[in-house]
Amino acid sequence: MKSSNNRVAAVVLAAGSGSRTGLGYNKMLYASGGQTVLERTLDAFAGTSVTDFVVVAAEADFDRVTELLQGRADTVVTTGGPTRGESVRRGLCVLPPCDVVVIHDGARPFVTRDVIEESIRSAVLYGSGIAAVKTTDTVEVVCDGKVISVPDRDTLVNVQTPQTFRTAEIVDAYARVTETYTDDAAVYLHAGYTPRIVASSAGNVKITTAEDLLRLSAEEKVGMGFDVHPLVEGRPLILGGVTIPYTRGLLGHSDADVLTHAVMDALLSAAGLPDIGVLFPDTDPALLGASSVGMLQTVMAKLCERNLSVGNVSCVVMAEKPKLAPHIAAIRATLAAAMGVACGDVNVSATTTEKLGIIGEGKGMAASAVALLVRHG
Ligand code: MG
Repeated sequence: MKSSNNRVAAVVLAAGSGSRTGLGYNKMLYASGGQTVLERTLDAFAGTSVTDFVVVAAEADFDRVTELLQGRADTVVTTGGPTRGESVRRGLCVLPPCDVVVIHDGARPFVTRDVIEESIRSAVLYGSGIAAVKTTDTVEVVCDGKVISVPDRDTLVNVQTPQTFRTAEIVDAYARVTETYTDDAAVYLHAGYTPRIVASSAGNVKITTAEDLLRLSAEEKVGMGFDVHPLVEGRPLILGGVTIPYTRGLLGHSDADVLTHAVMDALLSAAGLPDIGVLFPDTDPALLGASSVGMLQTVMAKLCERNLSVGNVSCVVMAEKPKLAPHIAAIRATLAAAMGVACGDVNVSATTTEKLGIIGEGKGMAASAVALLVRHG
């Protein structure tokens, strides 16, 4: 919900150098999926109460940033200073008339609309709204390698941006406070105002390291698989790589592990690859009696080559008999180990088909699976 009739502008700070990402250029200009970090951050404000933006760019990046944002009629670009505080000061100088100003790091593209609106609401009501999360680590004060005090964690928060203020108050604070502080809440506090916290989330990270850049390119893909095999006498029953005591087993060229076949097809489908019939043809003599879990490991190697990892896999085995519940834990553990994921990311349920159809008549077993893959880079 948008908060008010107040006019709200934002100062977005993009003047850093981003040396810790190892890029050799400003991380704000790192592009993934056709968009730079800075553009993503600005797009995070879509649908909020903010109507005008001032982007503060480093002098060296000014032309590039201006070119990048030239299609945005609501945005002006200005140059920053040697410190964060100086950059904010310069941004405030060119603000269009507004009642409330949101100050935000250009390197925080994951900020949510809710957090932005909550900070604006707080600023309208109380003068300020500072995004923060409760500190989960214990923080210790050290001097010369020795701990000298341990503040009570319940009194500590980790401060992020947006930091939102009544414009007149933060402009006044920056005009009067000359010391250098690392954020706007500190400037506001030292000017005699009371910064007020609003709850944010740990997901609102500031892109700092090369690892953080990977978060930008995570892409999720879903796939499904289905398989049926006949049940015959004289074969072992193997499901999810686990041999299950039963009078009959599944018939097929390989070990006929219907569940693992459905899982492989779900993974291959999510990856946009041909199915197991193409990858492991039943005319290949090398695959006669082959372990399907071994084939699953081959599939995993193909995913790995494509920077794909398994998010989770969810499966259903359809069988009239035997009871599968006592074997589910072992099946999950075996499949999880083959895919290199935690057991909790592989779930298997079993159902009968109420004696209906070929499954219900005990002529065969079927399995279906859904897999979620995550692509990095
Ligand atoms: Mg099969």
